[in-house]
Amino acid sequence: MGYAVLSDVHANLEALNAVIKDIKSTGIRDVYFLGDAVGYGPEPNECVEILKAESTVMIAGNHDLGAAGLVDLSRFNRHARTALEWTRKVMHENNISMLSALQVKTDIQGRDITIAHSTPYEPEKWHYLLRIQDAEINFKHFESQLCFIGHSHSPVIIEQSPSGELITHKNAIQVSSGSRYIVNAGSVGQPRDGNPGAGYVLVTDDKIKIIRVAYDIRCTQEKMRKQGLPHALIERLAFGA
Ligand code: ZN
Repeated sequence: MGYAVLSDVHANLEALNAVIKDIKSTGIRDVYFLGDAVGYGPEPNECVEILKAESTVMIAGNHDLGAAGLVDLSRFNRHARTALEWTRKVMHENNISMLSALQVKTDIQGRDITIAHSTPYEPEKWHYLLRIQDAEINFKHFESQLCFIGHSHSPVIIEQSPSGELITHKNAIQVSSGSRYIVNAGSVGQPRDGNPGAGYVLVTDDKIKIIRVAYDIRCTQEKMRKQGLPHALIERLAFGA
């Protein structure tokens, strides 16, 4: 049976609900969450609770640990910091302690899979894997055939062929037994690749597919306005930027 990989929900309940509904329609039950349940968005508690209920394995991102006081807020840009200060005020103690206890990288038991929020190389340093040279380094820092990451909010599949050549794929790929892969699952709650649809990855019959789901962006924006969250964060949702 296949599995779904989700990342960077960022307290966007509408986007998360749309993605969970989409996953359920496939019959898939295994869900791996790559971190950043909170930050930026208006419903951190609700999103943490749903992710806890729906995820088979869950790790933390820099925003989760920022909300928990384990990553210094000076490491975030102005809008992210403002949103995290708000998040800290509204989050329930039990949700904070649940996030605090999560790892930032792990192997999935029984599958040839590693997951990390930022990168398999120095995952606690929150590097971004943006260039093909970054991928080259990172392939040396996990043992599994597949490594799923998030953090950049831009989905991509990078294949390392048996000869060591790196090939980038944008939508879908059939897993080939000799190759290894780094897959960025994109972002459920704040895509940044120009497509505003909630993003996640579905793997069935050794096929990795980047999925986008439409959701009620205006509803999320309205909730953000009500909470006084920064304008720039509200507006970017409509553009996926
Ligand atoms: Zn994020």
